[in-house]
Amino acid sequence: MASEFNIIRDFFTHPTRHTDLSVGDDAALLRVRNGHQLAISTDMLVAGTHFFADALPYDIGWKTLAVNVSDMAAMGAQPKWATLAIALPENNASWLGEFARGFFACADTFGVDLIGGDTTRGPLNISVTIFGEIPQGLALRRDGAKASDDVWVSSYIGTAAAGLAHLLGKIRLENDALEASLDALHRPVPRVDLGLKLREIASSCIDISDGLAADLGHVLENSKLGADIFYADISKHPALESSLGEAFEAMVLSGGDDYELCFTAPQDKRDAIKHIAQDLNLKLTRIGNTRAESGLTIYDANYQPMVLKIAGYDHFK
Ligand code: ADP
Ligand code: MG
Repeated sequence: MASEFNIIRDFFTHPTRHTDLSVGDDAALLRVRNGHQLAISTDMLVAGTHFFADALPYDIGWKTLAVNVSDMAAMGAQPKWATLAIALPENNASWLGEFARGFFACADTFGVDLIGGDTTRGPLNISVTIFGEIPQGLALRRDGAKASDDVWVSSYIGTAAAGLAHLLGKIRLENDALEASLDALHRPVPRVDLGLKLREIASSCIDISDGLAADLGHVLENSKLGADIFYADISKHPALESSLGEAFEAMVLSGGDDYELCFTAPQDKRDAIKHIAQDLNLKLTRIGNTRAESGLTIYDANYQPMVLKIAGYDHFK
């Protein structure tokens, strides 16, 4: 692309906070604090799969970084640096300007420096690698849950999936329900502060990107445990719960894209977790418990096991 360097200069050069050498050299230079581990994660977003190609470029920019920041939150890491590899079908300055505005709004909200990347022509495809810091040994891993731990989730579950179902014409939402669900879908808020506070409290943690059942399933598999979850206890946006009823069940259990945290913690941490919820003004809800016997059972309001009809999102299924 003839104007590759102009694109980098005009759209992807932004002041940094904690980087020795940023965009413009052959490599960036950054310093990890003593006694810390570097947490690294990559997520790729493909037009048509992860977002509608005609979605607002501001939202695409925000979400591209937010889903990566969410992986840092789920590890209990402080996000600090990111690289951005982007393939663009054309040099469209107004699209790029809005994409960059959304991307840097997220970067500035969470203190992330954009330190480099790559820019080429091709079908729209965006890949971010994010780097964060964790004090040595304090990461919230998927394999740390113990039997009889509580299972918790942040905020509301199923909200983004309801927004997607609305855009696909499967349901019709209005007013509060519509606004909340489209916000959740387009501009997810990664729970960084929660992840940081859960260090030394949670025994495991994951962010809900593929669906609650699927993502909790990863924790259970890695921790070699099972769990009992109570559907009625799962926190849901009140406007969605009342307007969707039973149709909401599959979205709550198997819908992805919420980027809320699902974590486990010993029962003696309940008070500590309530304090975190108050400090952060964030709803934290206990939805069940782990058990030694493998498998995930979700109970309905009458304590009958629900049959999961749809698994979490798997790109190759
Ligand atoms: P090289 O040929 O050495 O790989 P490039 O021409 O690809 O360098 O990139 C020049 C500089 O711009 C590098 O510092 C690179 O990290 C940065 N860069 C390229 N594309 C992006 C982007 N989309 N966002 C941020 N930085 C970028
Ligand atoms: Mg390059």
